Amino acid sequence: MKAIKDMIRTVPDFPKKGIQFRDITTLLSDPDGLRLTIDTFCERYKDRGIEAVVGIEARGFILGSAVAYKLGVGFVPVRKKGKLPGNVERFEYDLEYGTDTVEIHSDALHKGTKVLLIDDLLATGGTCLAAAQLVEKVGGVVEEIAFIVDLPDLKGRDRLLKRGYRIFALCKFEGD
Ligand code: AMP
Repeated sequence: MKAIKDMIRTVPDFPKKGIQFRDITTLLSDPDGLRLTIDTFCERYKDRGIEAVVGIEARGFILGSAVAYKLGVGFVPVRKKGKLPGNVERFEYDLEYGTDTVEIHSDALHKGTKVLLIDDLLATGGTCLAAAQLVEKVGGVVEEIAFIVDLPDLKGRDRLLKRGYRIFALCKFEGD
């Protein structure tokens, strides 16, 4: 069977010159790729006492809802600013240029809920660090943060490990 990494397409210079965009749509549209991705996550987390899966907009929704369904727990979205209708907690974080804001419903998790946080790709780690802090703000406990792809050159992994988070990625693209 093909490896997960081989099913991810690299698109050079998207969305701007110099970026090697790691496109997971080719992995997700492959029936074996989708199954292998979701099953690998679920195999890892099935006995870890996960009580909720939190996914980060938008690609984290695709993975997170499938993993939550299979683990038999609920799914909670972390969204970009202004999309969630209820009372929210928000976290603003720095981008290369400017800032971005993510939000979660204030009542999304019970106090002490053991959470698996999931997104497609770890680059600088800014997005998921913001999401992890949001989870904690509403009472959740981050058991681990899971990705399909890690880009170690961008040091997100080191940044998250330094903050005490556990990280898991299905594959990495390093120096290429
Ligand atoms: P960061 O906050 O820097 O870790 O960026 C993470 C988010 O940006 C991920 O959720 C990805 O969806 C997206 N992203 C950043 N760099 C890339 C890349 N080279 N290829 C595909 N997506 C990327």
